[in-house]
Amino acid sequence: MLTIGCHLSSSKGFLAMGKEAVKIGANTFQFFTRNPRGGKAKELDLSDIEAYLEYAGEHGIGKILAHAPYTLNACAKDPDLRRFAYDTMCDDLRRLQYIPQAMYNFHPGSHVKQGVEQGVSYISDLLNRIGGQGGQTTILLETMAGKGTEMGRSFEELSVIIDNVEEKSRLGVCLDTCHVFDGGYDIVGSLDEILGEFDCIIGLDRLKAVHLNDSKHGLGSHKDRHEKIGEGQIGLETFVKIVTHPKLRELPFYLETPNDLDGYQREIALLRERAEIEKT
Ligand code: FE
Ligand code: FE
Ligand code: ZN
Repeated sequence: MLTIGCHLSSSKGFLAMGKEAVKIGANTFQFFTRNPRGGKAKELDLSDIEAYLEYAGEHGIGKILAHAPYTLNACAKDPDLRRFAYDTMCDDLRRLQYIPQAMYNFHPGSHVKQGVEQGVSYISDLLNRIGGQGGQTTILLETMAGKGTEMGRSFEELSVIIDNVEEKSRLGVCLDTCHVFDGGYDIVGSLDEILGEFDCIIGLDRLKAVHLNDSKHGLGSHKDRHEKIGEGQIGLETFVKIVTHPKLRELPFYLETPNDLDGYQREIALLRERAEIEKT
């Protein structure tokens, strides 16, 4: 069975997210660890987490995905900003120890004219300093669209970052379909070739999650504007190929499309239905 969900608001806590997920036919979900623009996280509510874990067990919600605030910049020029990214990630990881099934996804950052090499070095340095503090949590670098000086725009960039991290047993990649398409990888015309490239450069064993987003703009546009599934430049058939692909179908999939809960419910139902049909 497909593991699929969407991004949910974490404002009402974990049990509320679990119930919302089940209501819309999801068996996983993604959430921001705190206000996506950064700032202080809410106190952990251990009774909420306990209730959530029980509910998740009963309803077949397995791996979920925590998303770091997207304003963090692990490769900022200002050491205070890099420090802030490190402190926030450590705090997030400490909190995630209470949710054993969670993985932790972050945007590698923007090098802002310092150059890719400096960016790589700051990001891998941060991951090295985090070291074992993540406990059991797998940390994922997200593939980015390459807007401005965004890092992670190519498989090579991610691979160099990973290569420079000493302890990489709990390091992985989250592939965002809109971002890679926007970054110039033609997943519509050559999905198998792109996956082959990913395998050669990073290794498919590092791929731990997929963000399912259609793209408002065309191949290689570096704009990063998500669109509803089937309403953008990627198109429904490619998403059906992705969720049924032998090398991808066991992964958890997360919708980050511009939708309300009803819209997410429809996209989940559609992809589940198409995945069932492809099986037969
Ligand atoms: Fe993201
Ligand atoms: Fe994403
Ligand atoms: Zn995006």
